[in-house]
Amino acid sequence: MTSRTGLATALCCLIFFYAIFCAPSALAQPPAANQMPSVIEVPAEAQASPHFDAIAATNAYLAQIPADKTARSDAYFEGVYWMILWDFLYGAVVALLLLNLRWSARMRDLAERVTRFEPVHTCVYWLQYLVLTSILAFPLTVYEDYFREHKYGLATQSFGPWMGDQMKGLGVGAVLGGLLAMLLFGVVRRLPRTWWIWGAVVVTLFLIFEALITPVYIVPIFNKVTRLDDPTIVDPILSMARANGIPAKDVYQIDASRQTTRMSANVSGFANAMRITLNDNLLRRGSPEEIQAVMGHEMGHYVLNHVYKFIMFFLIVTVLAFAYLRWAIGWTLQRWGEKWQIRSVGDTAVLPLAVLLASVFIFAITPILNTFIRTQEYEADMYGLNTSRQPDGAAQGAIHLGEYRKMNPGPVEEWIFFDHPSGRNRIYAAMRWKAENLELFTGH
Ligand SMILES: [Zn+2]
Repeated sequence: MTSRTGLATALCCLIFFYAIFCAPSALAQPPAANQMPSVIEVPAEAQASPHFDAIAATNAYLAQIPADKTARSDAYFEGVYWMILWDFLYGAVVALLLLNLRWSARMRDLAERVTRFEPVHTCVYWLQYLVLTSILAFPLTVYEDYFREHKYGLATQSFGPWMGDQMKGLGVGAVLGGLLAMLLFGVVRRLPRTWWIWGAVVVTLFLIFEALITPVYIVPIFNKVTRLDDPTIVDPILSMARANGIPAKDVYQIDASRQTTRMSANVSGFANAMRITLNDNLLRRGSPEEIQAVMGHEMGHYVLNHVYKFIMFFLIVTVLAFAYLRWAIGWTLQRWGEKWQIRSVGDTAVLPLAVLLASVFIFAITPILNTFIRTQEYEADMYGLNTSRQPDGAAQGAIHLGEYRKMNPGPVEEWIFFDHPSGRNRIYAAMRWKAENLELFTGH
């Protein structure tokens, strides 16, 4: 997704983007899907033996991926690096257009004519802003989320259903974004000195609220979630959950293949409301060992309290972002406020400026965000290996995820762009774990 729709929609996207990704029907899937091989046998070098070597085992796994598939997924992933830049620049142009042509001021005037009651006024402005920026960004959205995903065989939806999902997304953005905009402008207007602190608190509480409602109210808008009842899959997962103190009674399945060929799983919710969900691509293509390795990883996120740690990190980053916004908006309005016909920071017409300045901040800290998340993912990998004891399943999972992630990047590239460890590092970590727990596999 692009940064143009800004803080509010970025938040909305953040959660349900995982659920929709792009656009696809299983029947419409082109034969060109870049499917990685499903390893049936563990390569000779990765089999337990007295001269087991983690590096040789890692290389043997990587050697199973045909060169053309590696080239294709590298091209897909490296294209994303450029898209981060294009999204940022495109969003900046849209924001500057809205400000300099005074469209933002006009949308505010129109909203004021509808009502002077502030919360409703903010909401009316938000709807105009959301629709206008979605239309302006549509060429980029359709390229990134539809044509490009199809080109790399990751999408399964034809254009009509894809467009339908986009409209649903717009509806969700209208409701949640409108709510957040009302809250934030309310805080800015009432607390002119301290809004940057309370604004950050509001955004963080909103993130928590969204995380809570997403599995129950947002995900079903786009996909069907059903209870999984195949005991050969459910029983080992629930047994692993019990062994790790996770209060899950059921395992759920989501029809992600409606939109994508990507394999994934997640653990969502808190305490007794928590649920484990596997997507149907993983169920169809993953071996039992791989599914257990993936579930071990997801349980790691839960047991290691990654959600709470992320919320704390998010709050700190957001306070810094709002402190910078307070300064940057003040500075900018002093120079160009009159030209753009923006009265103050509490004027809804300021939104494109706030979004533009926030996107500069987010763009600049992308490597830090990625590194925070990647570190949690690595921790979950380690937890997953310890609890599932399926290093070969983990290696297979890393290869499957290599359908849309570069397997073997340079260290700096991984630090800047990767929000998960690279495939090579994940396989190596699994093989090192296997080397150091070889007695589990040799029977002594
Ligand atoms: Zn993870």
